[in-house]
Amino acid sequence: MIDEVAIERVRLSCPEGHWEQEVDYDVVRYGDPDGGWVDFYSVNGVPTMSPYTPDGTPLCPECGRSTVARLVARRVIALPAQERAGAPARAGREDVPLLDARSEPRTGRPDRA
Ligand SMILES: [Zn+2]
Repeated sequence: MIDEVAIERVRLSCPEGHWEQEVDYDVVRYGDPDGGWVDFYSVNGVPTMSPYTPDGTPLCPECGRSTVARLVARRVIALPAQERAGAPARAGREDVPLLDARSEPRTGRPDRA
């Protein structure tokens, strides 16, 4: 059963400072039959490993070192009540800023001046 669907903006940084990028991960949290919870990550619809794990964090395109992933904002997508499995609150995510869904105004285009 799906317990939570969220979008997490993750900043990936090379430990040597060569490279940095923010990526929005879609995170679906499932309850498994044994009573635990499994997070399923994807980017642009493509399944990925968790960026918070040593095997799942991308490599720096400059030096090949594992990047450091830091959660900078997140947004939970509301589910119908019958879909929620009632998992405990997620540790380490209480103080993360809301990932605002609103886009910037398109008028003016200061970036194209
Ligand atoms: Zn690097």
